[in-house]
Amino acid sequence: MGKVCLDPGHAGGSIDPGAVNKETGLQEAAINLSIANQVKKYLIAASYQVLMTRIEEEQVETDSLEYRCELINNWGAELIVSLHCNAAVNEEANGVEIYTTPGETAADRAAACIINQVITTLPDLKLRADWDDGDPDKEANFYILRHTDAPAVLLEMAFISNPKEAKKLADSDWQREMARAVARGISDYFS
Ligand SMILES: [Zn+2]
Repeated sequence: MGKVCLDPGHAGGSIDPGAVNKETGLQEAAINLSIANQVKKYLIAASYQVLMTRIEEEQVETDSLEYRCELINNWGAELIVSLHCNAAVNEEANGVEIYTTPGETAADRAAACIINQVITTLPDLKLRADWDDGDPDKEANFYILRHTDAPAVLLEMAFISNPKEAKKLADSDWQREMARAVARGISDYFS
């Protein structure tokens, strides 16, 4: 089975909580870690090797993306899945997005596998896709995507700034469904 790196975005706690819901104080970094831990559980059960770039609620060295990329590349990951929650000034903004680096890359297929499972498992979630180039992923030069050797995708699971989606992100059933979908997408990619 493959070597999968799960990258829970942001260092957590007071170092870098990521996006924060301004009503409830819900922090992105905590959600990213919680869901990554559950994805890990499913992958381990399916005999994958899993590297987590952050394992603590607040972990200072993970504030450095350079540190994360070095860890990932030294370990020899075959696929990197970075988990984040989205945020926008407009509280109405909602839905799921997945990113790869620009152009046709090996990550495009991984992105399609994961996003297909996510929208099938969580049909309420609006797919915010960019179909201009014939595939659903959006493209951006995020550091973690650019500076890792293996195919890498970044999943913005939902909007923590949206009251309804923040509630979902904090819900343990929803988290489990999202984690299962991501894990299934990863196994689709490897099969
Ligand atoms: Zn983030």
